[in-house]
This record gives sequence, C-alpha cells and structure tokens, in this order.
Amino acid sequence: MKLYQIALLVTLTFQSCYSQNSNNKKETMENNKKNPVYSTTDSSKVTLKDEEWKKILSPEVYQVARQKGTERPYTSKYETSKEVGTYYCAVCGNPLFKSDTKFESGCGWPSFYEPISKSSMIYLPDNSYGMKRTEVECSRCKSHLGHVFEDGPPPTGLRYCINGVVLDFEKAKAAEKKYNEGEKH
Ligand SMILES: [Zn+2]
Repeated sequence: MKLYQIALLVTLTFQSCYSQNSNNKKETMENNKKNPVYSTTDSSKVTLKDEEWKKILSPEVYQVARQKGTERPYTSKYETSKEVGTYYCAVCGNPLFKSDTKFESGCGWPSFYEPISKSSMIYLPDNSYGMKRTEVECSRCKSHLGHVFEDGPPPTGLRYCINGVVLDFEKAKAAEKKYNEGEKH
C-alpha cells in the first residue's frame, strides 16, 4: 500500500468515527436530561415529594405544574404552532394531545378540543378567584396543565386551555406524514 492510500484510509476512519459520535449525542426530547421520571411509554403513576419536583423541574415548569401557576398569555411558542405531531406532559412524558385537535382560540394559550384519551387527564372543580372552572391535571403525575371550558368548537364543544410551558412537542415522523398525504390523494 502506498503512503497516500494509507493517509486516505486513516482520514476515512476518523470521519466515520466522528459522525457516529455526534449521532449518539443527539437528544430526542428537550430539557429532560435530569428528569428520571420522564417517559413517553411508561404509564405507571408518578408520585414525588414537592422538594423532589423542585430539583428535577425548571423553575418555569415547576411554578405552573406544581404550584398551579399560569404562564403569561401569548408567550408560548405552541400557541399558534400548526406543526403536525403529539403534545406530551413536559413533566412526565404522558401523551396528552394530537396536533389535529388543536385550534386557534385567540385566548392566548395553546387550545385543544379533545385529549388523546379521556384517561390521560384528571378533572377537578376549581372555584378560585371567584370563578367556577374545571381544572385539568395530567393523570400520570398530577401536574396542573390548565382548564377546560365549554365554549370550544365541534365535535366536542370543549376548549382545553393549556399552559404551553407544561407541554412537550414531538413532530410526527416524516414517513408517517408522507403516508397520510398519500392517503388523501
Ligand atoms: Zn404528567
């Protein structure tokens, strides 16, 4: 083997190692590196003490999810997003909504007319601030998500008004999208 051939071989070997490493480093979901309870497939209930939640959640998520806070209206990147995919609980990964049930309500928060399944949420009466409202919590981790109102569009007539900070979004796989588009034609 000539010297230039060896040099080429070495270069190619380095290149393939490099691209493998960078693939391994890719994160599939945002900001869940230090959250051990986050899973999009495990449906077993999560119960942690308040101080444990404080440790694993960002201050923004903790304030809404665990202290029933409300994010400022018109601040969530998901409010007007029309991307196709699935919305998960940002605290525990429980699948909550499909993008095709999302609509523009103009209320300032991401709005949906139907959850992925009835059992993905818990419904609780909320009479705070002199209002009669229904609070929705994630059924897996009991985090506060938002409220549901009865002024939504058909077919349900419901409006799930959800804080974007407690949502995680995953785009539908490109292949699935192509498949669905093929079906329409
Ligand atoms: Zn959850």
